[in-house]
Amino acid sequence: MSFSTLGLSEPLLKIISEQKYTQPYPIQEQAIPALLSGKDILGISKTGSGKTAGFVLPILELFQQKKTKTDRHVSALIVVPTRELAVQVESVFKLFSVGLPQRIKTMAVYGGVSINPQMMNLHRTEVLIATPGRLLDLVDSNAVHLSKVEILVLDEADKILNLGFKEEMDKVLALLPKKRQNILLSATLSNDINDIQKNLLHDPVKIEI
Ligand code: AMP
Repeated sequence: MSFSTLGLSEPLLKIISEQKYTQPYPIQEQAIPALLSGKDILGISKTGSGKTAGFVLPILELFQQKKTKTDRHVSALIVVPTRELAVQVESVFKLFSVGLPQRIKTMAVYGGVSINPQMMNLHRTEVLIATPGRLLDLVDSNAVHLSKVEILVLDEADKILNLGFKEEMDKVLALLPKKRQNILLSATLSNDINDIQKNLLHDPVKIEI
């Protein structure tokens, strides 16, 4: 199996090979074609499986094909439990988007640092990676609008719940449009995660690695 069979276009394939990713990992083999065809995903997988590139690559590909740049409306929202993961996921978006024909603006926002620079920089961001509390603060300040989100990723959803962010997560979900693509990633499939996936996902492709 090679990346070229998964439905990604030439500019992205070139960057993938420059990054010395010679072969897709199993989660990527399954997730990339499914996401490109518009499906929802339930991924039960741990860090180290290659889950991040499994959603980063198809999101970049989908956003190469259509342009939705609007002022403070983000098109893809990645909700993560921690600042460390936010920074890490953003670095993967940056790694694969530098040099793409359609420039895609990505940004990570998280608590524990001053909110003002984040508010200033959000302008024209298409892919937002955020921890739940800071995301709601930015929404409340009108710095970001979620009503045009097309793709939602809940990354390490079990950890989001374990850190006590359930209420914040529900508030975020209530702000999103009904019609959108969803990706739910968790290391385990607990009862709580199962409840969330039933509400969130529509006929998902299930991937367990
Ligand atoms: P993740 O599970 O997303 O945190 O990824 C784990 C590690 O695997 C990261 O260091 C990635 O750079 C690396 N990685 C992911 N996919 C591939 C691939 N197809 N080929 C080589 N390395 C990869």
